[in-house]
Amino acid sequence: MEIAKQLKDSDNLKPLPDEKNLGFGIHFTDHMFKMNYLDDKGWHSPEIVPYSDFSLDPAAVVLHYGQAIFEGLKAYKGKDKRIRLFRPWENAKRLNRSAWRMCMPQMDEALFIKAIKELVKIEKRWIPSQKGTSLYIRPFIIASEPFLGVRPAKEYIFSIILTPVGAYYAEGFNPVKIFVTDKFVRAAKGGVGEAKTAGNYAASLMASEEAKKLGFTQVLWLDAAERKYVEEVGTMNIFFLIDDRLVTPALSGSILPGITRDSVLTLARDWGIKAEERPISIDEVLESAESGRLKECFGTGTAAVISPVGSLYYKGKSVEVNGGQTGQLAQKLFDEITAIQYGEKEDKFGWIEFVE
Ligand SMILES: *Cc1c(COP(=O)(O)O)cnc(C)c1O
Repeated sequence: MEIAKQLKDSDNLKPLPDEKNLGFGIHFTDHMFKMNYLDDKGWHSPEIVPYSDFSLDPAAVVLHYGQAIFEGLKAYKGKDKRIRLFRPWENAKRLNRSAWRMCMPQMDEALFIKAIKELVKIEKRWIPSQKGTSLYIRPFIIASEPFLGVRPAKEYIFSIILTPVGAYYAEGFNPVKIFVTDKFVRAAKGGVGEAKTAGNYAASLMASEEAKKLGFTQVLWLDAAERKYVEEVGTMNIFFLIDDRLVTPALSGSILPGITRDSVLTLARDWGIKAEERPISIDEVLESAESGRLKECFGTGTAAVISPVGSLYYKGKSVEVNGGQTGQLAQKLFDEITAIQYGEKEDKFGWIEFVE
């Protein structure tokens, strides 16, 4: 499918934000991608247009019944000036899995990649060049049909917007303090926890606001049924290094299958580290911390890549991890993944897709 383009005049472009002060998700580029779906027509009319409001009927299904899914990935500019995407085909596949779960239409994965590449190419002046900075890519699908009834919508909008983002660790790693909640849950088995769907994030706000009020950075989620097994940390997957084994919760249906999670497992196994995907209880985590066997703990996700955990607070008790310092494995994984993303290390797993 050809992508139509309606571009702004070059003297009408937005001024670029200060590269040293980008934050996350604040500035949006000059253009966006958009495409419509109608039940009897399928996906049609893909186009790149100036960044602008959507026109949505107040009865649009997304506003009432929440049929909304999204993805998140980044474009990186290396020292060689080439622009790289990291495993974008995984985002395409995951978007379709989320769509399936939310009864939304599938889309062509090749078109998903092509749309990202063409949009990023047009917006390449927005890609910051300092190490650690990138252009965050947010593809999403919403149900746009005006209809107040609970059934899958027959009309959708797929769109991609771009936002330049700063280095997550401009001042180096800062291990975070985690609050383990046994009061709220993120997702239950059989629910929509494994889909990247908007409502999951609305559902998580209360717990993270409570944790922040108490001085913690993030929430660690336990399973919904027993409040016993570890699931995720904030909007990241979680890893524990216990003795010499790397452990992460198995994908059980309530956990988001992170692409960074998969990259970490792949690298660790390639380095000869035993990596286990299995249920891990909060009691096992705390016992291994108390006996000195818990060497490291960190979250993984596209935004931060690796986020070291410095302490865990559970039922009135706090345990430190690795003396509150970043562990060696966390550091090594961060260095390796970012080096691949910026083209400074061989892409031995074929993870990189060049924009140009
Ligand atoms: C997006 C997301 C992750 C991380 O996925 P990546 O593909 O590694 O960015 C983990 N947990 C939740 C809940 C998420 O939404």
